[in-house]
Amino acid sequence: MPSEQVDPADLSSALTGGHAVLNARLVWDNHVCLPLRPHDPSFLPQLARHRRAGTTMVSINAGFGNVEFSDVVRMLSAFRGWFSARPDDYVLVRSADDIETARRTGRLGIAFDVEGGDCVGSDPQRVHLLQSLGVRWLSIAYNRNNALGGGCQDDDIGLTPLGGEVVSIMERVGMVVCCSHTGLRTTLDVLERATRPVIFSHSNPASCWPHRRNIDDDVIRRCAASGGVVGINGIGIFLGRNDASIDAVSRHIEYVLELVGPQHVALGLDYIYDRAELDAYVLAHPDLYPPAEGYGTGIAMMEPEQLPYLTDRLLARGHSEATVAALLGGNWLRVAKQCWDAGHGE
Ligand SMILES: [Zn+2]
Repeated sequence: MPSEQVDPADLSSALTGGHAVLNARLVWDNHVCLPLRPHDPSFLPQLARHRRAGTTMVSINAGFGNVEFSDVVRMLSAFRGWFSARPDDYVLVRSADDIETARRTGRLGIAFDVEGGDCVGSDPQRVHLLQSLGVRWLSIAYNRNNALGGGCQDDDIGLTPLGGEVVSIMERVGMVVCCSHTGLRTTLDVLERATRPVIFSHSNPASCWPHRRNIDDDVIRRCAASGGVVGINGIGIFLGRNDASIDAVSRHIEYVLELVGPQHVALGLDYIYDRAELDAYVLAHPDLYPPAEGYGTGIAMMEPEQLPYLTDRLLARGHSEATVAALLGGNWLRVAKQCWDAGHGE
């Protein structure tokens, strides 16, 4: 365990400058993974850990890889049902204004994401239904190639005509195009084609740690030039030698800050609530998670409760409160305003 790993049980009495900053700001974690079990909501109350740590907005994953479209819809229905039955604690957001409402009223804003457009299949109009069920970003591919384009751990093919059509529809309906898990050529094609900001919801700079899931400086610069944002993830094998410490996360944040400025870096921590399920899934799918690339059991993750301490670290390193506020949530909000609210919404 990294030396800075914080035991959540120790946090209740601690109040740091980071806590105060978080309490005053929009704090948006753009990728959170809860178990994808529509008939078993037993893990969902644990999302309160994010809220207690000061988070005000999360994007919850509703499907990834080659999961069927019907399963994604079933999962979104189950999530929506559970959150909408708890209006004192959660807001299912549709617009950027809803996010401010959630923050102002002390509730956690909820949107959804899908990793990889496999479930769109050969029917790009499915994007409309995903958007109407609250999906606000979709990545083109998930590690492996699909009908839309290339994954980052497969042959480097470009965006297909179908993928291009999906990008256009996403922009039209107000869904953000994400290139996390997507291959290089497809990413460059998307950046060439897109007319709105393109994001990496949860990807780290390869210059800080070489891994096929991480992204090159040139891609980060092009993402920033589109008005987009790179969300730093808290997964140990993408940060270093299975190192999810605050040091490691700060190093990746500061690298992107230095490269493209404070308007283009944010957080997509990728915290996976069911650790046992993660271990079992990684072991069972070496095609998606090759052991040679560092995948295995016991992958370190930055815990939601470490967020105030990460904030402390960045402030202590001399970053202004405005910069820290931008990377905690302001940058994702800007993209939401530019993409979500610009779409027709259906
Ligand atoms: Zn992911």
